[in-house]
Amino acid sequence: MNILFLGAPGCGKGTQSKIIIEKYKIPQISTGDLLRNEIQSKTDLGLQIKDIISSGKFVSDEIVLKLVSKKLGQDDCEDGFILDGYPRNIAQAESLDKLFNDKNLTLEYVFLIDVPSEILIQRCIGRLICDSCGWITNSFFDDKNEKEKCSKCNQGILLKREDDNEETIKKRLNVYHEQTAPIIQFYDKKNILCSIDGQKKPSEISEDISRILNP
Ligand code: AMP
Repeated sequence: MNILFLGAPGCGKGTQSKIIIEKYKIPQISTGDLLRNEIQSKTDLGLQIKDIISSGKFVSDEIVLKLVSKKLGQDDCEDGFILDGYPRNIAQAESLDKLFNDKNLTLEYVFLIDVPSEILIQRCIGRLICDSCGWITNSFFDDKNEKEKCSKCNQGILLKREDDNEETIKKRLNVYHEQTAPIIQFYDKKNILCSIDGQKKPSEISEDISRILNP
């Protein structure tokens, strides 16, 4: 089962990916997470991309393609995977097509999680992520506080992402509308696009997705 999540920052791609990982036992390939890992590990690549990510701009197509290609070649992707945050522009979508052809893979589902911009800004500002299990929660909607203990794994601490501040979020939303939104058409033409109402509760969105995956 090869799945792609598409949608603006804060639409719930990460949350839904985590639910699918648990349910279907397939890995998530999140380019944002892969890039943040590089920054946290202070690799050469991490140092190179730190400022780009803080400013809300895109990292180069070449860098993200390399990361995705490496991940797709790993054994845990054999039974399927979830792509989250890649592709993000037409050039990346075309590169992914080529990569899938080369690896004899088929993209089966593209879920577009649709949420109005004003809600996205609040969701990103309030977003908190567990530094241990990756659980995503929110200080506005779930009554959680930054730096409190994660109630999901009881080990990690809930932290804010550096790029989840109002100024950077607005830039990321602009970049999304300019560069990422055109790939909705790209996948619609291939008849694999499923539009999902992202304003519902995470559990309801997950049920909508499950109904499509298991009709
Ligand atoms: P995300 O966690 O998906 O919100 O991504 C966080 C940041 O990582 C983005 O704002 C970009 O700076 C960078 N990034 C993630 N995925 C990509 C991609 N496919 N292409 C370029 N930059 C990316």
